[in-house]
Amino acid sequence: MPVIIVAEECQGCGTCLPMCPNNAIVYVEKDDCTIAEIVSENCVECGECVEFCLRGAIKEV
Ligand code: SF4
Ligand code: SF4
Repeated sequence: MPVIIVAEECQGCGTCLPMCPNNAIVYVEKDDCTIAEIVSENCVECGECVEFCLRGAIKEV
């Protein structure tokens, strides 16, 4: 199932970045904030990262 990171809910804590086995989660600069984003080309939609965001910013869609 595809996953997304809701930019408005991400605090850029970085917890999720090393949790992806495919290194599909990267930092990006957006509106002067550093947030996490999923590189869809590298994501295999395993869903493992969803549970690691304590803010619930990573969602299966
Ligand atoms: S764990 Fe959640 S809040 Fe932290 S960088 Fe990842 S998506 Fe953002
Ligand atoms: S769904 Fe899996 S492959 Fe995609 S970003 Fe999350 S942990 Fe990485």
